[in-house]
Amino acid sequence: MVLGGSLVLNGFDFTSALDPVGSSKDPQVEFTLPPLPYAYDALEPVIDAQTMRLHHDIHHAGYVRGLNRALTGLAGKRGSEDTAGIKELSRALSFHGSGHFLHTLFWQNMGPGGGGDPTGGLREAIERDFGTVASFRSQFTAAASQVEGSGWGILAWHPTAGRLLILEAEKHQNLTVWGAIPILVLDVWEHAYYLSYQNRRGDYVKAWWDVVNWDDIAQRFERVV
Ligand code: MN
Repeated sequence: MVLGGSLVLNGFDFTSALDPVGSSKDPQVEFTLPPLPYAYDALEPVIDAQTMRLHHDIHHAGYVRGLNRALTGLAGKRGSEDTAGIKELSRALSFHGSGHFLHTLFWQNMGPGGGGDPTGGLREAIERDFGTVASFRSQFTAAASQVEGSGWGILAWHPTAGRLLILEAEKHQNLTVWGAIPILVLDVWEHAYYLSYQNRRGDYVKAWWDVVNWDDIAQRFERVV
């Protein structure tokens, strides 16, 4: 599963696609929580410092531990007759692995002084695949706002389809399209917004556009197309 620093889950390489901070080029036997690329209060008032601290230090850290536990557990079960154990650990790998990689991407997709509109090749691809930047934003906002339960709005490049897709993931791992490479993700689990926005997820999603770091997303797009 972990070969030469890459982690392949369900057929595609998350490590090269998402480039976890400083770790994708080095052989890894254990995943670690990447530091936030800015201060806890850097995204205020859109996302408050306490939410960022709990979200990164507690929630994301839990996914990192869960991922390591799943990989260690699977290594121990390999070759055993414990098929039920392997099933359970495979589910944990999918959940915690997706949680770790999506959060790693989420922190980098945002930044102080964000907002505005995409530019360059990314903008051209968005206009080609969604009509206009406004209609892209509208579909993404609707997808993220309406995820059933906990999940994510995701903009992904699909190399086989040769186009961008907007996905509406439930939890971290459900409702994906295999092969799609996320380049912009929005966490809409309640832990991501409840302290400031309570039940008003739609307000959080609308405000979030002001912290989107389009430079980061454009760089990811250029790497995967
Ligand atoms: Mn989260």
